[in-house]
Amino acid sequence: MATTSGPYAQQQQALRARRETLLAELRRELHGDDGLLGLRSHRDDTDPELSAPLDALDLAQALRDDAEFRRIEAALQRIDNGSYGSCADCGEPIEEHRLAAEPTALRCVGCQDRFERTHAGG
Ligand SMILES: [Zn+2]
Repeated sequence: MATTSGPYAQQQQALRARRETLLAELRRELHGDDGLLGLRSHRDDTDPELSAPLDALDLAQALRDDAEFRRIEAALQRIDNGSYGSCADCGEPIEEHRLAAEPTALRCVGCQDRFERTHAGG
């Protein structure tokens, strides 16, 4: 078992807890009785068109959870290899309050701002 010590123990703990929650959600969304990859095909569904919008919602949610899961995995890896807490763009330490609010943050406030403006898509 990895220890939870070091400057980012709190974030690490929060990230791990969130990861567990997401895993449970993803399992339910993808593999549960009503999940996308679950027993849906076994149900004698009345009208497949009626359930289609629900599927899209489920899928959107699952994709969001999956994306967050990946960010969390990446953040935990950065904690392990010591790069966590440094801005991916300028290398400066990411603000503490930012990491507290968003443990998966990759950039400091200034660089994130610039990143979002650059990638805003017009
Ligand atoms: Zn920065």
